[in-house]
Amino acid sequence: MPLQGIEVVDVAGKGRGLCATQEYRTGQVVIRSRPYEHVIFNEQADKVCHHCVRQPISKGPTHTPPPLLKCGSCKFARYCNKDCQKAAWEAHKPECAAIKRVFPNKASDQTRLVARLFWRKQRVAENKIQEDLPILVEELESHVKQRTKEEKEQLDNRVFSFGDYVTYEAMPESDEVIYQWFGAVDCNAISLNDQRGLSVVGVGIFLDVALLNHDCNPNCVAVNNGAKVEVRSLRPIKPQEELCISYIDPIDTTPGRQEKLKNQYYFDCKCEECENGSEREAMKSALLDENILKEKPEAENYIIKMSTEALKRMENTKKSRNFERLYNQALGALKQQDSVIADSHVLKIAVLNQCVEVSSFLRRPDDSCMYARRVADAYEKILPAIHPVLGMYLMRLGVLQWQTQMKEAFETLGRAAGIISKTHGDGHPLFLDIVDLMRQCHHEMQMSPEVQTKMKAVRKEANLGIGKVGLPSN
Ligand SMILES: [Zn+2]
Ligand SMILES: [Zn+2]
Ligand SMILES: [Zn+2]
Repeated sequence: MPLQGIEVVDVAGKGRGLCATQEYRTGQVVIRSRPYEHVIFNEQADKVCHHCVRQPISKGPTHTPPPLLKCGSCKFARYCNKDCQKAAWEAHKPECAAIKRVFPNKASDQTRLVARLFWRKQRVAENKIQEDLPILVEELESHVKQRTKEEKEQLDNRVFSFGDYVTYEAMPESDEVIYQWFGAVDCNAISLNDQRGLSVVGVGIFLDVALLNHDCNPNCVAVNNGAKVEVRSLRPIKPQEELCISYIDPIDTTPGRQEKLKNQYYFDCKCEECENGSEREAMKSALLDENILKEKPEAENYIIKMSTEALKRMENTKKSRNFERLYNQALGALKQQDSVIADSHVLKIAVLNQCVEVSSFLRRPDDSCMYARRVADAYEKILPAIHPVLGMYLMRLGVLQWQTQMKEAFETLGRAAGIISKTHGDGHPLFLDIVDLMRQCHHEMQMSPEVQTKMKAVRKEANLGIGKVGLPSN
């Protein structure tokens, strides 16, 4: 994997990083990476191909996709076809034996990934594979030394389960190496989404992507397409500029992000956004009107406390699956927030998101559409114009609008397509899904109002379009 258009550099205050050696325009691919090693999560193991990370997709309500092929030996790994199975075999062979050995127990996803790293090392030592790597797994940040006593005990437990899985005879002499691998996986692994970006199905180590440092207002984004990860630029980049991605969810305030980065990645973020803020950053904690504080100085603290507690309560109600109650809780919290904080406030976005989810679930598409519109408007205020979260949310809103026969649907989908073509690329399944949706939406707009009303009713009955963004085009 020789690096092209980028180089490894020492960045003041951050250590190793990557910088551009050429100009990049918005949406251009900066890194195209194949996994060094990856695993599919235990929970998703029977739904996704363990080699190419694709899910069989139904082409319409009457079409059943072909089932995945099961590994005849471990009965755990699945593949699209013989080609995927053959390509995966060399790496799966020792894993296959380990899965059978520990059955009916299952090793954790992390243990399975670390074991894949371990077996790969063995294959390299035996000259079964040649490697040309930008960095070795042993050189990745693992922050083992910075861990608390409790975290170190957890690492010890992981070493035990690793021993059970790969057998103690095969284990490396020193536990330190295994600690480092687990640490490297914690700090560097990249989540793999299904092709529609709806759920995380696995995790992998991508050595060149792992060289990218974090920034809360990054100039790049890493998105996977099957087992591949592509890093694209979110804005124009000049030669010598450092390339960064965000390691965490951007919908959070500076203190919230810093806490997550410290807990999970063991560093204090000193990026421009954290140090000096921006207009977008201010919007994440904005009040409806600054005068509110003059009249009622305690109003803001009250709303923050109320919202935090209400969100916790909603989590519990969700567990008990009482959705009517959950909806009432969300609407109650929103009503109180409405008089004090702006829609772009992160706590309000969290509540609005609950409103969208629950009203979708309760089959009230007009409600979910209205709340989703508010979330999309809020995202537009706090996220850069080209951002995957914004693109995917606009896609979702477009689907909801289409489902409720709103004429804005086509335009919203068009805006989503514009963003996703840059963040995911125009060959990504998600982009192709939007194009399909737009075609169908356009086609329906030509139909008579009576036919449209009938379709709306059918869709409401089938609860189509909610959460399932990629609808069939026939
Ligand atoms: Zn496959
Ligand atoms: Zn197997
Ligand atoms: Zn930061």
